[in-house]
Amino acid sequence: MTRHLARTLLTLTAAAVLTTACAPGANVEAQAPAAAPVKPNPLPGVTKSLDELRAEMFHVGAGKRLKPAEWPGGNRVAVALSFDVDNATMALSQGNLDYEVLSRGEYGAVDGLPRILRLLDKQKVPASFFIPAVSSLLHPQMIPDILSRKVHEIGIHGWIHERLPVLNDEKEEQRLLDQSIETLTKAMGKRPVGYRAPSWKFSKYTLAQIKAAGFLYDSSLMASDDAYEINLDGKPTGLVELPIERIVDDAPYFGAADGSMPSPEHVLEVFRSEFDVAWDERGLYVLTMHPHYMGHRSRVAILDRLITHMKSKGGVWFATHEDIAKHLKGMLDAGSN
Ligand SMILES: [Zn+2]
Repeated sequence: MTRHLARTLLTLTAAAVLTTACAPGANVEAQAPAAAPVKPNPLPGVTKSLDELRAEMFHVGAGKRLKPAEWPGGNRVAVALSFDVDNATMALSQGNLDYEVLSRGEYGAVDGLPRILRLLDKQKVPASFFIPAVSSLLHPQMIPDILSRKVHEIGIHGWIHERLPVLNDEKEEQRLLDQSIETLTKAMGKRPVGYRAPSWKFSKYTLAQIKAAGFLYDSSLMASDDAYEINLDGKPTGLVELPIERIVDDAPYFGAADGSMPSPEHVLEVFRSEFDVAWDERGLYVLTMHPHYMGHRSRVAILDRLITHMKSKGGVWFATHEDIAKHLKGMLDAGSN
């Protein structure tokens, strides 16, 4: 050991003693060995009874299927185009103040939404826009721009895109839901009838809260390609589910930070094939997009081609989620499905 190293060690040892001695509450006799951290059980399901698993599985479950033999106007398929207008709210909810991320979200309000609205005008098709309340408050022009077209719908998408299972707080979730409904009602001049959970994630409280709030429909779940009534703990809620799917969502394809991989052409192929089967099966086709992803130039171009393809096949009912849910709710109430 060199003299230098020995001196360094001595200094470090002295510093350690000093640190321990100065630590609040330091007391040699009271120092018990630290308790081992409790490890979360990675497989709690393996020891649960079937009844327990059934209760968990069907707390939120698929009830009556709602698939009409024919859609209004004698059409064979219903197309519901939807846009989750998140912009930068997810990053803001997490306190992520990276302005690369925030400005990429802001693109949704600045260029994305206006370009999408121009395309919908050109194609003369309606859409539903699910907007976190904070997103609408940060860019207050969005709601009047959407409503000025007089054909689109606006629905709830959380307060600040809060992930509800992470929040995991019944009272706080209720407060944020009430606040979101109040904000959008004020901005729209009418109460929204549709709900889509932020990140499409329910907490264990969500379904009971949105049922009590009187929503007509939800669009956050994925138990079927076609619509169904949602059950809460095995009991029918009267709420219509218009299911979404990651396959027919732009976020998994375009959500990564590094541009347009895979090519927009490949994404168009997936979206088109899903539509073609919905058309064959006389079903429902719900497509989810985000103005800060889909609103870019090359991507609005594929949306344009997709809508043109749908029109070329004929028999398509382009409708808002609200109109589709009203139609299905009528069927449900009449017990005719
Ligand atoms: Zn979202």
